[in-house]
Amino acid sequence: MNIKNIDIVVVGEGITGLSTAYWLKKRGLAVLILSKDLDAGGTMKSITDRGFLYETGANTALETTPLFKDIVADLHLQDEFIYANPEGKNRFILRNDRLIPLPLGPLSFLRTNLFSAKGKMQILREPFIGRAHKEESIAEFVSRRLGHEFLDYAIDPFVAGVFAGKAEQLSVRSAFPKLYALEKNYGGLIMGAIRGAAKRRRREEKAKDRAETFSFRSGMQTLPHALAESMRSEIITGARVTGIRQPKRTKASSKRYIIEYSSKEKHHKLETDYVVFAAAAYDAAPIIRLLSPETAEVLDSIYYSPVVSIFLGYKREDINHPLNGFGFLVPSKERKNILGCLWNSSLFPGRAPKNHAAVNAFIGGARQPELCEMSDTGIIKETTKALSSAMQISGKPVYWNLTRWHKSIPQYAIGYQRNINALERFERHFDGIILAGNYRGGISVGDCVKNSYELAQSLAAKIVLTSKSSERIVL
Ligand SMILES: Cc1cc2nc3c(=O)[nH]c(=O)nc-3n(C[C@H](O)[C@H](O)[C@H](O)COP(=O)(O)OP(=O)(O)OC[C@H]3O[C@@H](n4cnc5c(N)ncnc54)[C@H](O)[C@@H]3O)c2cc1C
Repeated sequence: MNIKNIDIVVVGEGITGLSTAYWLKKRGLAVLILSKDLDAGGTMKSITDRGFLYETGANTALETTPLFKDIVADLHLQDEFIYANPEGKNRFILRNDRLIPLPLGPLSFLRTNLFSAKGKMQILREPFIGRAHKEESIAEFVSRRLGHEFLDYAIDPFVAGVFAGKAEQLSVRSAFPKLYALEKNYGGLIMGAIRGAAKRRRREEKAKDRAETFSFRSGMQTLPHALAESMRSEIITGARVTGIRQPKRTKASSKRYIIEYSSKEKHHKLETDYVVFAAAAYDAAPIIRLLSPETAEVLDSIYYSPVVSIFLGYKREDINHPLNGFGFLVPSKERKNILGCLWNSSLFPGRAPKNHAAVNAFIGGARQPELCEMSDTGIIKETTKALSSAMQISGKPVYWNLTRWHKSIPQYAIGYQRNINALERFERHFDGIILAGNYRGGISVGDCVKNSYELAQSLAAKIVLTSKSSERIVL
């Protein structure tokens, strides 16, 4: 690859960087990916050990967009792609030390003992509640529209499960924009859910609560691995980007930016007109600090909650629960030391040896960050204690592994839109630099993929429009 001829540099080999580069390449552009890691995937990492297969980051993804199917077909991953066992639709909530299924429809909602009769009545009143007049946290929004019990026993654990966050701190507008839009556009959630469904059908998108859960036979990292493999000659691994600056434009041919990176203990520079930073906000901050200290400060200010992901393998006979679902989540009100637990071997085949079960618990988050400071043995002790009581486990795990995420997931806190506005100002000022990743437009793998597709399309159109080259192929 002649790096003088590249159109665009992508920094980062997580799902955002890889899928952005993949679609830019499909539009006929010459892309170069610089990644500090040696292995593709960023947060998505699958490990196989002693017959267990587990994830240290994302365990599953939701098929919220047809783009996944396009990539899977294009990269010949059809035999690897697997939907979760249909039983995975069952999700449990811990209440009074019992796992109660989350109701899946109106009838089971009326019958469930997860909510009291008073709590259920409050939900039926939802269509008659007016709009908010100020920015609200998720907790304020949900308790106003659906009541405290629904907040405590549905949304609070859900926010812990998705964001490792707290409903009191996250902005409903930024963290759950679709929910916020239902109130804004339709006046309520129930009305919006009914009327919004037709629009989604037209866009061929699925709401997160209806989308299928999937993974790959060899784990989630299969996707970034296959994307990276399809661009093998366009990636420099072990290349840590250290800075970006504007050159003194003496020659007419010189490009707008100089990127500096270190690789194999050597310092390198390359010139480019376009660069996508697809690194976490705290990693992008030092790179752009020289260009814009204010924007670096905004990126640095984004709080990523700490989490420990604990994978455990048990003898199946030691667990008395049928494990007939996705797993369970723990509301703050229950005052336990875990956020929740996924039942991996119930969801997908090949996650545990015969007669064993594989589960993945999480502790910490914005709810209890201090728990992440415990020793490994302390974490295992607390986790197994909580799991034993919830899932009726009699024996000890036969295998465990824990991964400490000191900065796991960006928290879209109240006022987060101000950060987004600042990033947009930066991009307008430094034309050609794009700040991408899970701190913008959603934290799920599906959101990262959708956002990358849209970014690649608009960027490709812009590059082609402004390019002097008439030979470019545009699909
Ligand atoms: C514990 C955990 C569990 C999760 N579970 C789920 C789940 O079940 N389902 C789901 O949908 N989502 C889940 N998520 C969220 C999802 O995995 C992430 O939001 C998504 O993978 C982020 O991808 P990304 O490419 O934006 O960033 P990252 O994966 O963080 O990738 C960033 C890339 O930038 C590179 N980089 C950083 N700095 C530099 C530099 N200076 N120079 C060069 N390269 C650099 C890194 O090496 C990396 O390759 C989970 C996240 C965590 C942490």
